[in-house]
Order: sequence, then C-alpha cells, then structure tokens
Amino acid sequence: MSSEGPVADDQAIELATFSRALYARGWMPGTAGNLSVRRSGLDNRALITASGRSKGELDANDVVEVDVDTGLSTQTGGASASAEVSIHSAIYKTTCALAVVHVHSPFATAVASRVAAPNEVVFLRLEHYELLKGLGLQDPTSADLAIVPNWPQVPQIGADLADHLSKASDPAPAFLIAYHGITAWGSDLAQARNRVECLEAICQQLIFAAMEPTSRTPHPEG
Ligand SMILES: [Zn+2]
Repeated sequence: MSSEGPVADDQAIELATFSRALYARGWMPGTAGNLSVRRSGLDNRALITASGRSKGELDANDVVEVDVDTGLSTQTGGASASAEVSIHSAIYKTTCALAVVHVHSPFATAVASRVAAPNEVVFLRLEHYELLKGLGLQDPTSADLAIVPNWPQVPQIGADLADHLSKASDPAPAFLIAYHGITAWGSDLAQARNRVECLEAICQQLIFAAMEPTSRTPHPEG
C-alpha cells in the first residue's frame, strides 16, 4: 500500500551521512553513485538515495522507499529513486545483503574498463592481496570479481549480476561495471563501504604494479 510524506528516520539519516562522506572522498562526482539499506523488519523493502541529487548535499529527506521486487517507490509523489535501483533490487533478491554501496571510484573504474569485454560478463581474478580478507569469503586467498558491461539499459546490468550471483557458489560481495564504477554489499552500510574501500585499494595496487618495475636479481652480489 502506498503512503505519503517523508521517510526520514534513522536509516534515512544513516544513508545521507554515508553519502556525504563518500562524496567527500571524490567517489560520487556530479550526482553519481547511490546507496541503499534494506528496511528494518521489512525484507522486501529498501531505502535508496534519490535520483539527481548531489550526494555531497544529501539529507534524510532525499531518500526513497522502494519495493525490492519491483524497484518501484512505495510512496506517492516525492523524489524519484535512483536510476540504478534495479542493480540494488538484483542484490537484495539474490543475497542476504542488508546494505548496498555503489560509487564511481577511479581505480576500480579504471581496472574494470581495462579488463572488460564489450558485450559479455568477464571475471577479474584477484589473488595474494591481504585486503581480500575484507570481503568475508570462505576462501580469502582469491576472488573472481565479475565485470559487467555498462549496458545502456540499467536493468540489463542488474539481470547480468543476478544471473552471476545465482550460479556462483561463494561469490564476492561486489562487482564492477565497465567504464562506470563499483558496487559492494554487506550486513550494514559500514561493511559495504569497507568492502568498496578494500577493492578500490586493491585496484590502485594493480595499477601501480603494472608500471615499469625495477629490475630484480637473485642476490645483489650474486
Ligand atoms: Zn553509477
């Protein structure tokens, strides 16, 4: 049933607070990026940041409650949900995630664009990095990160992700969109944000490591 009026509450305040902090890091340029949380006690509802708002100026009224199954607002009138709500819906429908963070952070976007294939989902194998432990995988020594094409129809991105998540046995709680950004999820906004941070840092390392290395010898006097 639809309801009217603002949805400002503790979850809305938290969404706005995290949005402003991620904007301050330069990860949500323009009006890009979006965050959501699953509604407390309502598994099929989520709060998501509104479309077209600067995330640096977001307040608790700039959020929209949506039905997870349809991605449609549960309110009449008011702000529109993020245009990328279908990505959030795909995650809530196929995982136990309680929060989703999507940003356009530069290193993850650069790596995604470099590795991506034009019209199919591919995977970036990550190994050795200590920060992989931040993903909470059963095997923290490696992860295969899905890279989805930046389809102009956003629901296709959500469909590709849902297809991957439904097939993988221990999927990473994150994925990349070519020429676009990174999305991670977790048991709350802090954990989803931490996972974005870990993967952004790993992607930064990948780019640094791809630079011309210094020469290596078995022993300097060998
Ligand atoms: Zn985006």
